[in-house]
Amino acid sequence: MEAETDSNTMNVTSPQACDCGAAISVATGYTHAVCNSCQSFWFPTSIEQSEDQIVPQNRATPFSCPRCSVDLEVGKIGNTEVCFCTSCRGFVVDLESLGGIIQMRRTMYEGPDDKPTPANFCELNVHGTCPACFAKMEAHHYCGPGNIVLDTCNGCKLAWLDHGELSKIARAPGQR
Ligand SMILES: [Zn+2]
Ligand SMILES: [Zn+2]
Ligand SMILES: [Zn+2]
Repeated sequence: MEAETDSNTMNVTSPQACDCGAAISVATGYTHAVCNSCQSFWFPTSIEQSEDQIVPQNRATPFSCPRCSVDLEVGKIGNTEVCFCTSCRGFVVDLESLGGIIQMRRTMYEGPDDKPTPANFCELNVHGTCPACFAKMEAHHYCGPGNIVLDTCNGCKLAWLDHGELSKIARAPGQR
């Protein structure tokens, strides 16, 4: 007998409280938590075990995170270099490479499809700063699988994905 797994409730223990003392909880469809009080992030695993599977290259970049303002580091997703944040684990990728990464992850994914979830349109009002040119990024409703809100800088042709968004796209129902 195989255990039934629900892709929306991954088998991880959720934290009850942040180091600062505030209560935190994991949002549906994600495995990590954000503290509304001190804005720090909680993850169930190390970055190497993280669901987006970014492989750290141990190289600094001159770019800073649009969410937490710490310097981004070089990481690899497949053969594509991205710049990722060690604090919130989001990453920036050039728009040309994004389609290939998405296609690869959707093809590789062998688990159950997510139930379709509505987009969180509140995210359309959150504008991060482009890590490269410091302009305000544009928030778009990504029209492919996963129903996520994607931040892009059209000047630099970059996209920012928050932690878990790539995995969400991979798990979304639809053609693979
Ligand atoms: Zn906190
Ligand atoms: Zn960050
Ligand atoms: Zn830019």
